[in-house]
Amino acid sequence: SETLLRVEELALHYRTRQGAVRAVDGISFDVERSEALVVLGESGCGKSTLAKTLMRVLPRNVGHRSGRIVLGDVEVSALPDERFRREVQWSRMALVMQASMNALNPVVRVGEQVAEPLRVLRGWSRRRALARAAEVFELVGVSTDFLARYPFELSGGMRQRVVLAMALIAEPELVILDEPTSALDVLTQASIMNALKRIKRELGTSFILITHDVATSSELADRVALMYAGQFVEVADAARFFAEPAHPYSQMLMASVPRLHQRLRPEPIPGQPPSLFDPPGGCRFAERCPHRFARCDREPPALPFGDRHRVRCWLHADDAQPGDDS
Ligand code: ATP
Ligand code: MG
Repeated sequence: SETLLRVEELALHYRTRQGAVRAVDGISFDVERSEALVVLGESGCGKSTLAKTLMRVLPRNVGHRSGRIVLGDVEVSALPDERFRREVQWSRMALVMQASMNALNPVVRVGEQVAEPLRVLRGWSRRRALARAAEVFELVGVSTDFLARYPFELSGGMRQRVVLAMALIAEPELVILDEPTSALDVLTQASIMNALKRIKRELGTSFILITHDVATSSELADRVALMYAGQFVEVADAARFFAEPAHPYSQMLMASVPRLHQRLRPEPIPGQPPSLFDPPGGCRFAERCPHRFARCDREPPALPFGDRHRVRCWLHADDAQPGDDS
């Protein structure tokens, strides 16, 4: 296996009147070629900010920003905006933004919209770009009859496939999907997940799939990263994460996923995530953690890079056992 993306100590804070919002606050991970990393986490933990930071589509109120992003052998975080747009954005790394299926241009036929990046990035003729759009439509499971339709003539599922086609048109090595199926019915979700699986297998594309839907994401996931208050708290192989989550938050999240034939309703996780204006100095999950001990409030646990299985928790640190504090 070969590393495609390597992210080191990524941070992105927003400037607001109330102070800095530490939406992404020290995230390190990698993604291999032809691998799908699923990023899970509850609303507001910074998932979309992570996606937008990687893709450099940020709002104007960006405050502190730091860290390294390496794609293949290019340190993309060091590229000036102009070169990033020309050489990386859409062509090597694409993003399907949250709710983007509702952001298609209502007065332009969907085939033209999907073909657009090739005309802009590569200067292709309309005809050549449309022919390629037809191929990508087939890849994502949209009949080529739909090329000449307008967005309002398509169902939600079809529009979602169209924005996926737009992301795939320039054959990027990495596609980031931000909640791509959360507004769709289960059958459509499953069918889109199957299309993604096929694309991953046939084209060797890598994916970062952002979602809070554990069940649907498990279809595509090779690895899982669980995010909490601007940081990753666990990164693990998917099979391991789903079967034996290690971080107390992972365990509570997995226990809250509804299962077939389950008699009792799953309990929601009690408590609230900490404020991103002034997160706690110790473990950010301590407040809600059933296993909390003295050290958790005093020192922030790290998430060491390098291991295949990484857990940001003092219970899992080599040098710490709960008994140490007594
Ligand atoms: P969701 O699951 O609801 O999509 P998310 O995990 O994608 O949530 P983000 O949208 O990345 O979360 O937001 C992370 C934090 O940053 C939230 O507290 C949010 O309110 C805040 N935030 C997002 N955009 C801005 C902005 N432009 N200015 C200030 N704060 C922002
Ligand atoms: Mg989001």
